[in-house]
Amino acid sequence: MSKYSTARIPSLLTFRRLNSYKDFCECKTAVAILYLRFKRGKAPFMPDTLPIKPAGGYNFVMQDGFGRIIDYMRVSVTDKCNMRCVYCMPPEGVDWVPHSEVLSFEETLRICTAAAGLGISKIKVTGGEPLVRRGLTTFIRSLKRTPGIVSVTLTTNALVLGDFLDELVDTGIDGVNISLDTLNADVFRYITRSDGFERVLRSLGLAREARLDIKINCVPMRGVNEGDVVPLAELARHEKTAVRFIELMPLGLAANLAPVPQSEIFERLRQAFGALRVFDGRLGNGPASYYSVPGFAGKIGFISAISHSFCAACNRLRLTGVGLLKPCLASDAGVDLKAIVRGGKDDEAIAQAISSAVMLKPIRHDFYQGNGNNQHKKKNMFRIGG
Ligand code: SAM
Ligand code: SF4
Repeated sequence: MSKYSTARIPSLLTFRRLNSYKDFCECKTAVAILYLRFKRGKAPFMPDTLPIKPAGGYNFVMQDGFGRIIDYMRVSVTDKCNMRCVYCMPPEGVDWVPHSEVLSFEETLRICTAAAGLGISKIKVTGGEPLVRRGLTTFIRSLKRTPGIVSVTLTTNALVLGDFLDELVDTGIDGVNISLDTLNADVFRYITRSDGFERVLRSLGLAREARLDIKINCVPMRGVNEGDVVPLAELARHEKTAVRFIELMPLGLAANLAPVPQSEIFERLRQAFGALRVFDGRLGNGPASYYSVPGFAGKIGFISAISHSFCAACNRLRLTGVGLLKPCLASDAGVDLKAIVRGGKDDEAIAQAISSAVMLKPIRHDFYQGNGNNQHKKKNMFRIGG
């Protein structure tokens, strides 16, 4: 048996008590084994013992060059936004992408249909602010009807969510992620450069009344909203809402701001609420790790791309508004699907291009902070689709 044979890996993982997908992502040994196999030209693997199963109705499974199952695509529908968050978008002077360059909903749907045929079963609609694009709910309805797609969710700043709730519920949408970095009106105005605090809270209240599956996302920043961590977590006390803390990634404007590491947020929450217990169940589509808090109806989640890299379990692709299919947020690699769609090519060509983008997925991102050489400063979350 070779040193890195697949047979050895489950026992190694069992020995290290890697019983879940989340444990696997956070284990440096597991990542190292993936890398060693890649370097030695060995076939990719995923341990049989881990719960990695495609969720789609099809039997197709799309794997990247490292054996990771790719079943989730984030689809950006616009780079425009009705807020200007300090870590994401400058207050003015943004060069908007011309309308003609942005994929039409029909073109996006064609790509999503091809992706579903390959094994993408979960889609997150994002932006920019997706709700500023006219016709969004009709698009979501079409996505929901696409064979193979089992989950369609939306990420929004919730400024106008209240106006679209009835339509959204009617589409059968599977969940909404609401970005809310603070419960303090002044801090909200500072972060978002907008006066929409009351409107956002109203939208959140209405979304809860509508019994939507809600996740609240907060990006803590040093000296800005770190004091909001505990009040925001309280939103999970009486409702099943998950409150998640996303580590600031050094992209674009965010490269000039300081993140608050997961360990520190965890400690703040522990001091406020007592012991947080690991939640082993599955929640959401992506890389968050979840905890239960005594007496809380909802869970607390962490998405920490820097301090707890989850690349070994990365299951996602990103389709930008202009039709670039990106295998990794931090990588410049991508495949221009718009050229294929607008070039009169057939669905088989789209499927082949998607497969080639999947094979470009790097083994891990390279967000190395503090090395004084951040090549990601020129990237913009609102363009890529956060
Ligand atoms: N406008 C919508 C919203 O704010 O939810 C969707 C797009 S926004 C780019 C998606 C998510 O990316 C938001 O939750 C936002 O907080 C997050 N985000 C933006 N820039 C980020 C960064 N540099 N690091 C971590 N998260 C970031
Ligand atoms: Fe707009 Fe979302 Fe970026 Fe804030 S994070 S500026 S709401 S796209």
